[in-house]
Amino acid sequence: MLPIDLHSHSSYSDGSHSPEQLVREARRLGLAAIALTDHDTMAGVSEAINAGVKYHVEVIPGIEISTIQDGQPIHVLGYGAAPEHPGLRKLIRELAAFRETRNLGILARLERLGIHLDYVELTASTVGLIGRPHIARQLVRQGHASSIAQAFRRFLQRNAQAYVSVSKFPAAEAIKQIQEAGGLAVLAHPTTIDKNLKGVAALVKKLSESGLGGIEVFYPGHSQKICQRLLYQCEQHHLVVTGGSDFHGSLKPEIQLGGAPIMPPIPYRLLEELKMRLVGKNKPTVNESQSPSQGQTIW
Ligand code: AMP
Ligand code: ZN
Ligand code: FE
Ligand code: FE
Repeated sequence: MLPIDLHSHSSYSDGSHSPEQLVREARRLGLAAIALTDHDTMAGVSEAINAGVKYHVEVIPGIEISTIQDGQPIHVLGYGAAPEHPGLRKLIRELAAFRETRNLGILARLERLGIHLDYVELTASTVGLIGRPHIARQLVRQGHASSIAQAFRRFLQRNAQAYVSVSKFPAAEAIKQIQEAGGLAVLAHPTTIDKNLKGVAALVKKLSESGLGGIEVFYPGHSQKICQRLLYQCEQHHLVVTGGSDFHGSLKPEIQLGGAPIMPPIPYRLLEELKMRLVGKNKPTVNESQSPSQGQTIW
C-alpha cells in the first residue's frame, strides 16, 4: 500500500518545516503523496510542488481555512483550488488582515495579565502567517509556560484568558470560495468541534447543502468508533473520505508526517477518490488574463 498524508503545515503558517523540507521528510518516510494545507494561505504550494518534482512525491495543493460557525471555530480544508481565483484570493487577504488584528488582540490580553510579548520579535520568528502556536512558542521562550501545550491550556485555547477568535467567516463562505476556485472542500478533524461528535451530524448535513465535498475521517486520536460514525456520515451525504496527520513539525512535536505510529497509514486509494471528484467538477472560473496556477497544471 502506498501511504499518503492529506493534512500538513509548513513555515508559511504554523509548521516548522519549509515546503521543501516537508516534501523531503515525506520522501524519507516513503509517502507517495502529501497535501500542503497551511492555515489561510496557499503561499507555500508552488515551492512544495517544485520540491515534489525533485523528490518524486506527489504534492496536492491545499489550504485549511479558519471559519466560525455559531460561535464555534471550524476548519475547512480545500484541495485542488486555484490560488489565483479572485474570490479565494480576496478571502485569503481578508483572513490575513483579520489574523493581524487578532494577534494584536491576544497580545493586548496577555499584557493585561502582566505578560509582555514583543510583536516585532514575534513577526521575526517566522516567514509566514502568525498563529497561536507561534505565540505559544514565544510564551515558552519567555518562561510563561513549560510547553506549547501548556501555553495553550493556560492562555490560548478557547475559553482561556487570552483567546481571541481567528475568523469572522462562516464555513459556507469558505466552501463557496474553494468550490468556485475549482477545489473540493472537506470538514477538518470533526472531533475538535466536539470530541464525541455531538452536533456534527447536523453540521455535516447543513454544510453538505452548502457544497461540502468530504470529511477528514482519519486523524490522530480518532478511534475506530469515531471513524465508523464519520464514514456513515460520508455515505449519507455522498462525501469523500480523507485523512491526514496535521503535521506541524516542532510546533506539534508529538505528530509525525504520515501519522505513524499513532494512526494507521492512509491509503493512496483515498486520494484517487478525491481526484476523481475533482475531475468531475467545473474548471475554475479564473479570468483568462490571469496566469494559471502551477498547482493546476500539475493536476
Ligand atoms: P490558529 O490558527 O492561530 O487559531 O491556531 C490553530 C493551531 O493551533 C492548530 O492548527 C494547532 O496547530 C494549534 N492548537 C490548537 N489548539 C491547541 C492546543 N490545545 N495545544 C496545542 N496546539 C494547539
Ligand atoms: Zn496549525
Ligand atoms: Fe485544523
Ligand atoms: Fe491543520
